[in-house]
Amino acid sequence: MNRTLTIDTISKVGELVLLKGWVNTRRDHGKIVFIDLRDRTGLVQVVLTPDLAADLHSEDVVYITGTVKARPEKLVNPKLATGTVEVEAAKMELISKAAELPLPIDTSGLEIDEEIRLKYRYLDIRRNRMTNNLRLRSQVTTFIRNHLVKEGFIEVETPILTKTTPEGARDFIVPSRLQKGNFYALPQSPQQYKQMLMVAGLERYFQIARCFRDEDPRADRAYGEFTQLDLEMSFVTQDEILELIETMFTRLIKELFPDKHISRSPWPRIPHFEAKTKYGTDKPDLRQDTNDPDELAFSWTIDFPLFTEQSQDDFYYGSGKAKFAPSHHMFTAPHHEDISLLDTDPMKVRGLQHDLVLNGFEIGGGSIRIHQPEIQDKIFDLIGFTPSQKLQFEHMLRAFTYGVPPHGGIAPGIDRFLMAALGEPSVREVIAFPTSSSGQTAVMDAPSPASPQQLKELGITLADVRLSTLQKRS
Ligand code: ASP
Repeated sequence: MNRTLTIDTISKVGELVLLKGWVNTRRDHGKIVFIDLRDRTGLVQVVLTPDLAADLHSEDVVYITGTVKARPEKLVNPKLATGTVEVEAAKMELISKAAELPLPIDTSGLEIDEEIRLKYRYLDIRRNRMTNNLRLRSQVTTFIRNHLVKEGFIEVETPILTKTTPEGARDFIVPSRLQKGNFYALPQSPQQYKQMLMVAGLERYFQIARCFRDEDPRADRAYGEFTQLDLEMSFVTQDEILELIETMFTRLIKELFPDKHISRSPWPRIPHFEAKTKYGTDKPDLRQDTNDPDELAFSWTIDFPLFTEQSQDDFYYGSGKAKFAPSHHMFTAPHHEDISLLDTDPMKVRGLQHDLVLNGFEIGGGSIRIHQPEIQDKIFDLIGFTPSQKLQFEHMLRAFTYGVPPHGGIAPGIDRFLMAALGEPSVREVIAFPTSSSGQTAVMDAPSPASPQQLKELGITLADVRLSTLQKRS
């Protein structure tokens, strides 16, 4: 007999069906026992005799064979999609018993200690809110893929084991076994690859890309890795990039978030200076009513200064002696009419950078890129690159000597967009297995020590500080 999904029982009154799923709840009523059986489509009420139900507990996995019955009118449950029917069980097979759960799953979960939720994430995801968030996330990336492919974009995967792309954060590095003493870096973003794909002539690239940044924990970021819609276009103006994103997200909200409304269209474009003077921030929350959970206020912040003052934290740029650090990243083009200021007053140069803001969160950023090797070289000098640091980017400068189209792009964060659009308190609520804010992975206990054998193969000897941490652990 084929399996019937709980949602399909409503059209099978009078039929014998086989249901497979979890016992959601159990209610004993003397001569009969009710259970709500749960599968990926929802719940249906099942009626059993006490002997059939004898061993059943919440979260057991069961197969139930029974007849679908219409409920009498006064017993219809309007809150349940299958509330017009119930299944009268003739046979029950207990497939897998569930131990008592270490956390409740019939609440929002936000009241539970997050460490416990992440340790038992596979149970935490059973709760409605988490399942719905993950389903919506999948619909969002599917929508984006379909939309962009129709617009002539090609999805391309770029390497994870690679060389650093400086985006203003610390790299994660991976030791090489074949070339002992050398390291890969995990990409902070596919920035350099997507620019080289423009040299390659693809013209329109996108990727739902994983990015890795070893930043100190922040409330609105998952530690370590995040997902962004990375895209790049050739022969494009800043206006065209902004319009593409605005159209795509407007349609996406309409289709996938029908309860939400976008407060203002077209989205306001606010120069950085105006945002700072008027709102005191470059990511203003432009909602008319911040108590309204269904309001989405998108805006663009543009005309950022190309440089900020370099601080101690910018150690990964230049020699540490230069005054300037890029506001966005070092591939961002200066405004055409400000180019001469690079020689006279660099802090006055505006960059062709655009940040996407939603309800007070920066959910993405991008820019028109430098495509002239001599301007790129000038930027490298201004941020204090030494000749050997410049050599690390030789591939970019070389690529640009073979006919490079003017290009630009953007990378809206998928986790951050979902968090802001759903009004979730953290990005971890929209990620299946997020790393905790202290850097511990969900369910599996990483980071964890490498075995002496692994270290030996990599030619790595641990410094004393690591050894004493290990000794303390054991
Ligand atoms: N690579 C940039 C980032 O990850 C985005 C971009 O400039 O397209 O923020």
